[in-house]
Amino acid sequence: MAYAFPELKYAYDALEPYIDAKTMETHHGKHHKTYVDRFNTAIASKPELAAMSGEEIIANIDKVPEDIRAAVRNNGGGAVNHSLFWSIMAPKAGGEPKGPVADAIKGAFGSFAEFKAKFTDAATTQFGSGWAWLVVSGGKLEIVKTANQDSPTSVGKKPVLLIDVWEHAYYLKYQNRRPEYIEAFYNVINWERVNELYVAAK
Ligand code: MN
Repeated sequence: MAYAFPELKYAYDALEPYIDAKTMETHHGKHHKTYVDRFNTAIASKPELAAMSGEEIIANIDKVPEDIRAAVRNNGGGAVNHSLFWSIMAPKAGGEPKGPVADAIKGAFGSFAEFKAKFTDAATTQFGSGWAWLVVSGGKLEIVKTANQDSPTSVGKKPVLLIDVWEHAYYLKYQNRRPEYIEAFYNVINWERVNELYVAAK
């Protein structure tokens, strides 16, 4: 089936001043839309993929026919990664998590502050375009980073939190100051949604 381009559940300016409206508009309306369109073009000719969701296709990237695998990895990855990214942000959110994921973070990293330092480091040091992720792997939380639009789901890990560190995610407002964008991101994390993802992943 064609991958549906998701509408945002908040306005483009809802994450101001941390993530600016112009970035959100371009990022969602142009970058994400293009990934979705190209993903749909790539899979249109493959009836064997028709019964799978976009997420299932990316989680089973090795089974995608070779002639479209690179296009699917890049554009399908871009499609599903951004859909998840929009969902783990919200206005009037951020701060420290509560609930099961908060306990799991404490268990895995010692404290929220230690988790934050490690997640920030992963996001800062991802060289070039990519993402930093908090995932459930083998029942435990871990921090990973990926290049381009690669997804940890392709290697069996289940994402609960992610940050886009492509320049298009922050350049209009922060230019080359990626660390400022990462610090601002903590003010818009939708921990309720992260908890849902964590509980589902366990
Ligand atoms: Mn992006």
